[in-house]
Amino acid sequence: MGDRELNLLRAVAEIGRIPDVRITALSGFYDTEPVSPVPQDPFINAVLRCEVSMRPYQLLDELQRIETEVFRRKRDVPQGPRTMDLDILFFDDLVISDIRLTIPHPRLHQRRFVLVPLCEIAPDLVHPLICSSVKEILESLPGEERVVRV
Ligand code: ATP
Ligand code: CA
Ligand code: CA
Repeated sequence: MGDRELNLLRAVAEIGRIPDVRITALSGFYDTEPVSPVPQDPFINAVLRCEVSMRPYQLLDELQRIETEVFRRKRDVPQGPRTMDLDILFFDDLVISDIRLTIPHPRLHQRRFVLVPLCEIAPDLVHPLICSSVKEILESLPGEERVVRV
């Protein structure tokens, strides 16, 4: 919601300000069709890569702090419109699955709006559970969701 491009730029800046985080790649920004049962405006999505010296749960805490404090995100309608959504897609080749954190992100391999920007910065990254590269997963994805570079 709001000025989507400005919000995304702000989010990148805020991630860069987290202590011990160094951003090493950023995809283009993509205008994407919402994939949700709740009708809403299109999203802008991007993927970034960073080097961190903290554990995955600490990184999630930092990302949620940015969503809540910087973007005043309210969690009223599940899968509804939001000012910002920061998800962890991969963390090295770690596999975690518990109530608070699932890595790799459990739906990334089904989402064109994730795979297209991800493929821009990490086409050869291999999904540790699917054992295929991001590029291969994208090429075999059915469906036609709109994902347009802005
Ligand atoms: P989706 O997960 O389908 O993209 P969402 O991003 O809209 O949905 P949220 O409401 O933002 O879902 O997050 C719900 C919870 O998901 C968070 O509170 C967090 O604990 C949990 N979660 C599990 N795995 C991850 C992950 N890899 N990255 C971010 N949050 C995660
Ligand atoms: Ca999400
Ligand atoms: Ca999320």
